[in-house]
Amino acid sequence: MTAGRLQTTDQRRRNMAAIRATHSKLEDRITRGIWVKGYRFRKNVKGLYGKPDIVIQKYRVVIFIDSCFWHACPIHGNIPKNNQEFWINKLERNKQRDEEVTKHYQNRNWNILRIWEHEVSRDFAAALERIMNFIDTAKSNRSR
Ligand SMILES: [Zn+2]
Repeated sequence: MTAGRLQTTDQRRRNMAAIRATHSKLEDRITRGIWVKGYRFRKNVKGLYGKPDIVIQKYRVVIFIDSCFWHACPIHGNIPKNNQEFWINKLERNKQRDEEVTKHYQNRNWNILRIWEHEVSRDFAAALERIMNFIDTAKSNRSR
């Protein structure tokens, strides 16, 4: 019984690590992609609410690349079989937090973009394009 439980916890830890690794790889591809195109930004800014993945303070741009698992994507979100109640609560809290974060920036006239991890993995070029268009729009609104 105890051994089985430990195994489960261990397996879960490995799954979570794999999810995080995939996500940070996608994030790196995106940030490298826009950097090469000449965009300058800060990454994973801890001083800003919700720790945005990409920040361009000058144009009040924050971009979040949302993990399908942690942000409970309607297409790929799933509840792990073990500890279901824990996960349901946790993922629900994450969703609420995302809404709070989004409102926080909207209320302060920031330009906030949320992009799903699956959009990046499905069509990288399109995701990159979407992000760059978003930044360009924020930039032109700013200088108007
Ligand atoms: Zn998804």
